[in-house]
Amino acid sequence: MAITESEVTISQIVGTREKTLKPDDYNVHITQYDEDNGIINATVLKKYNAKNRPGAMYNVTIQYLPAGQLTQTSTVSVVCTCPDFITRWSYVLNAHNAHYVSPYKTGLNSQYDISMTQAPKHTNPGMQVGACKHIRLVIQSALTL
Ligand SMILES: [Zn+2]
Repeated sequence: MAITESEVTISQIVGTREKTLKPDDYNVHITQYDEDNGIINATVLKKYNAKNRPGAMYNVTIQYLPAGQLTQTSTVSVVCTCPDFITRWSYVLNAHNAHYVSPYKTGLNSQYDISMTQAPKHTNPGMQVGACKHIRLVIQSALTL
């Protein structure tokens, strides 16, 4: 998907949800921060689940413009592999050309094919622009690098 068409900025994604992130509860690992091409790849692991064991790990990709450092005014396409992204944010972000789609065919892409075309009537009826906490944690981390 062409990043140039995205209408969504970093500050829109970070600023829309007031719920406090708890960065200490997660390990955010940025595996790639490619300033030349405006790509950030990261994994986000919840340190402990309810049973005091390591929680689920999700993959986040952020593609942004302009290239260089990520800023509050960068426009972005994003994706996360978590259920919250798929059920709440995928459709709305796609409607704003802000849903990153991997150029590589994976099993996940077919899941997004469905989520991008089914409006989140129950999970996001107001069609609010935003993203899951994993994406917001990666953005927060990348902005402070
Ligand atoms: Zn997520």
